[in-house]
Amino acid sequence: MSGQWLLATAATGRIIPADGPYPHVEGATVTSPRTGRPVRLTRRDCHACIRAETPDLEVVR
Ligand SMILES: [Zn+2]
Repeated sequence: MSGQWLLATAATGRIIPADGPYPHVEGATVTSPRTGRPVRLTRRDCHACIRAETPDLEVVR
């Protein structure tokens, strides 16, 4: 599977492949494609944090 995590790629400034681990992105600033304004990412936006806090989600299908 190819592709990349678009938000994580924008947040880190490097290409994050979609089949790799999701990096932490909180604290990074990205430009919102919807508003064109900069948005500072929080832990709520960070999939790595959400996964770490709710590991059950990895198991439940
Ligand atoms: Zn995080």
